[in-house]
Amino acid sequence: MTTYKNTLEFAKRLDSEDELNSYRKKFHIPKDNKGNELIYLTGNSLGLQPKSTKEYINQELEDWANLGVEGHIEAKNPWLPYHEYLTENMAKIVGAKPLEVVVMNTLTTNLHLMMVSFYKPTKLRYKILIEADAFPSDKYAVESQLRHHGYDDKEGLVLWKAREGEELAKYEDLEQILEEQGDEIALIMIGGVNYYTGQFFDLKRITEIGHKNGCVVGFDCAHGAGNVELNLHDSGADFAVWCTYKYLNSGPGSLGGCFVHERHAYDKDLNRFTGWWSHNKKTRFNMRHEFDVLPGAEGWQLSNPPILSMAAIKASLDMFNEVGIIKLNKKSKKLTGYFEFLLKELGEETIRIITPSNPDERGCQLSIQVLNADKKLHDRLTEEGIISDWREPDVIRCAPVPMYNSFEDVFKMVKRLKQILNE
Ligand SMILES: *Cc1c(COP(=O)(O)O)cnc(C)c1O
Repeated sequence: MTTYKNTLEFAKRLDSEDELNSYRKKFHIPKDNKGNELIYLTGNSLGLQPKSTKEYINQELEDWANLGVEGHIEAKNPWLPYHEYLTENMAKIVGAKPLEVVVMNTLTTNLHLMMVSFYKPTKLRYKILIEADAFPSDKYAVESQLRHHGYDDKEGLVLWKAREGEELAKYEDLEQILEEQGDEIALIMIGGVNYYTGQFFDLKRITEIGHKNGCVVGFDCAHGAGNVELNLHDSGADFAVWCTYKYLNSGPGSLGGCFVHERHAYDKDLNRFTGWWSHNKKTRFNMRHEFDVLPGAEGWQLSNPPILSMAAIKASLDMFNEVGIIKLNKKSKKLTGYFEFLLKELGEETIRIITPSNPDERGCQLSIQVLNADKKLHDRLTEEGIISDWREPDVIRCAPVPMYNSFEDVFKMVKRLKQILNE
């Protein structure tokens, strides 16, 4: 148990003792118009750019300039198998086997592709269960899948809600829902770390509850990948999807990741949408063959992927691999713990942390609920050089990211917050 102190000196000491403190210099930290570094706490929305990203992308631009189409084979990193360079490191980040992971498409697209294979409604079992405050895109995606199969999207959608007056969803309530209508639910699709509250769900527990009731279970890990230890393989989940532009620092709109559990890896009968990139690599270019699906997650690819985006992902994953998710997590718990300590020290009744206080039930994000939904507080923070984000109705989300945020960052954030609250 760390004993924290509410002083700048103490924050600086924690930074000097931090074994990851050299990584901050490897990122571009945005500055204000006077050239002062901003306190960037929105790595949960768009991760910062590693300085190495430019080199990685330039390599591919140069090879394209010099080689044209030959770059598919002759580039320093041949483009044909480029996605494979990402697989092993990505698998480590999400706790999966390389066979189970592929980088492709974007997040919501992957979610749909997964539902093509894993949402197989029947007359009696057709409903989809999601958490009540799921990310809007996820909700829209599952509703459209319901409609696509001819079901009413209101009647077919089951919500796992927090209780009246509470923010966090309870497993007992999930069990209750499944007891009552488990045999009507075809798919459970939950945000592994809820984007709003920052609650990190017990993926294994949810999967077990779902499987016991005959449901397929998938997770959207957009807020989990690179943030918490997901252990996707051990969770037993059927599938998972995530993006790489949040905690994985790969740039705006970059490609997503996809996990399909090993138990489905060789099931050629599993219905799916396909393209030439899901076809056997040896005969892909013969163009005349009967379709022969690749085993594992690769068998869900459609197109030859955008190399420039993948180069940015490679730059980031190489850094993650160097540090390792274990060390990142260790620092993350300490950093967010310090942030929480400082916020509580304020003793303010106008703000309240709704993220779980148990470090195992959250990642780095703290969601701060503001009394009377006063958005001015967020605007003032922005004016004072603190980049956080406001989510309707009443929450400021702050994510001190262990790779590049410092203990000094969170100290300064809370100090400025205090000044603003006293204005
Ligand atoms: C960020 C995020 C998205 C965004 O989806 P895109 O397809 O990448 O635009 C969707 N779902 C969740 C849970 C997210 O956190």
